Amino acid sequence: MTRHRYRGRFAPSPSGPLHFGSLISALGSYLDAKAQGGEWWLRIDDLDPPRITPGATDAILRALEAYGLLWDGTVQYQNQRNQAYVAALEVLQGLGVVYACGCTRREIADSSVGGATAAIYPGTCRAGLAPGKAGHAWRVDTRGAHVCFEDRLQGLIEQDLERAAGDFIVQRADGWFAYQLAAVVDDAELGITDIVRGADLIDSTLRQVYLQRLLKLPSQRYLHLPVAVNALGEKLSKQTLASSLEMTFPQSSLIRALAFLKHPPPLALQRAPVAEILSWAIAHWKPAGLPPARTIELKP
Ligand code: GLU
Repeated sequence: MTRHRYRGRFAPSPSGPLHFGSLISALGSYLDAKAQGGEWWLRIDDLDPPRITPGATDAILRALEAYGLLWDGTVQYQNQRNQAYVAALEVLQGLGVVYACGCTRREIADSSVGGATAAIYPGTCRAGLAPGKAGHAWRVDTRGAHVCFEDRLQGLIEQDLERAAGDFIVQRADGWFAYQLAAVVDDAELGITDIVRGADLIDSTLRQVYLQRLLKLPSQRYLHLPVAVNALGEKLSKQTLASSLEMTFPQSSLIRALAFLKHPPPLALQRAPVAEILSWAIAHWKPAGLPPARTIELKP
């Protein structure tokens, strides 16, 4: 069997500039790749036009540079990859594991089952589109889909997809491909061997593992990092008004992020150039020392 050299990636969505929460994901995936002599690639998940903030991609690239998180290879952009997603959808259609769905949000909300927080699609259109329904999305049939993967930090994760998530969308009614399908196709295309990202994406990983299985694409090793939350348990994000990263003196946020990841650098490095702090962190990176928690409260 061929052993692939470690290739990791960071895949931010350009919905705003990087904040402390995204720095943790970027840093964790960077350190894990570099500590294993691997490559670290950058992909911009710019598939969802309404969520894209003008200038955000550029701000993300500049912030990564200021923090010394220099990527390998050329930056990948999802909005240039439509053909590959179309081909993957055609494979799923050929397998008969996806179906067209013409339900409106209102219809789904009215008929959804389970889950108090997210509406679980009850499979209304599995047997075919109702007459007169135009413009439709494509959903994956999750009946009988029991999915599991071994996370390097969080342990065994498993789920009955139909019950927990329901038939999820791979192409939206407006024609845009869903992140779940795009991520699986792109990670395979780039030969990604390892994914290190926030534990808020564990449910997405389960759907992605299922798509990999259907598309016969290689899977990756996964490490889901604890996510920084505020006192209300909310993830730091643009919605919770997380402030963008400090650009003139990156050392202080970098050191705070390392402390969050249980790798606080020695005091002597507090004012050192970011490259020196990162070299220390690469040499000392031991992800086994991270708490296997999905969230950690960030104290002010
Ligand atoms: N772009 C997505 C996000 O920022 C997913 C990232 C990933 O697949 O690692 O949440």
